[in-house]
Amino acid sequence: CGIVGYTGQRGTVGVLLEGLSRLEYRGYDSAGVSVLDGDAVALRKKGGKLAVLRDSLEHAPLPDEGAGIGHTRWATHGGPTDENAHPHLGDEGRLSLIHNGIIENFAELRAELEAAGEVFLSETDTEAAAKLVGRAYRATGDLTKAMQQVVARLEGQFTLLAVHAEQPGVVVGACHNSPLLVGYGDGEHFLGSDVSAFVKFTPSAAALDNDQIVTITEGSASVIDFDGNPVEPKRFEVDWDASA
Ligand code: GLU
Repeated sequence: CGIVGYTGQRGTVGVLLEGLSRLEYRGYDSAGVSVLDGDAVALRKKGGKLAVLRDSLEHAPLPDEGAGIGHTRWATHGGPTDENAHPHLGDEGRLSLIHNGIIENFAELRAELEAAGEVFLSETDTEAAAKLVGRAYRATGDLTKAMQQVVARLEGQFTLLAVHAEQPGVVVGACHNSPLLVGYGDGEHFLGSDVSAFVKFTPSAAALDNDQIVTITEGSASVIDFDGNPVEPKRFEVDWDASA
């Protein structure tokens, strides 16, 4: 339902929670965040309101540096439980992924992945995408390439964001019939399902067109289409008061 991604030095968990709170108006039933922690992905996700997640993070903080992703979920596949909340993991806990929308062919993908030995922890359509991107990462060693391989296999509508422990400053996003925006900062970049996810931090934005993939690092934001051709997105300034 709501998506935010960040890479920069501002304190990742705080930026993600701020973004998610600005997306609350869209409605949701669960919330979660992932940041990178050494060789693994650290994850916290909870059914219920953002306050539940916030409390949990106050009691047991996650690392607050580097790249991270955050999600508010409006359940379509699987009830609003902690397990079904996003993010979902792939590549044996080294990859974390969030998703807005519906993956229509998830059942056949899941059957194929289970036959290949993947163990699923949720009832969501999303987890099939997490496992697929994880496997594509192992094959390519590159999160952008992995995303590009996987979107070709997904049917339905989706915005996906992923981070991988082996690419610590990087967030990769993809969108098909579902919105994704980039926020440009000085030594930091943001992704969001709408500009409210990051407008507190920067007014400089661009909306991806359909079927594009974006890779952000602290110093760069690059976009390609699903065939891998580079794209220059049209930037605009968000013209409402960011402090509102
Ligand atoms: N279909 C996914 C799920 O049920 C994502 C729902 C959403 O857009 O929040 O987990």
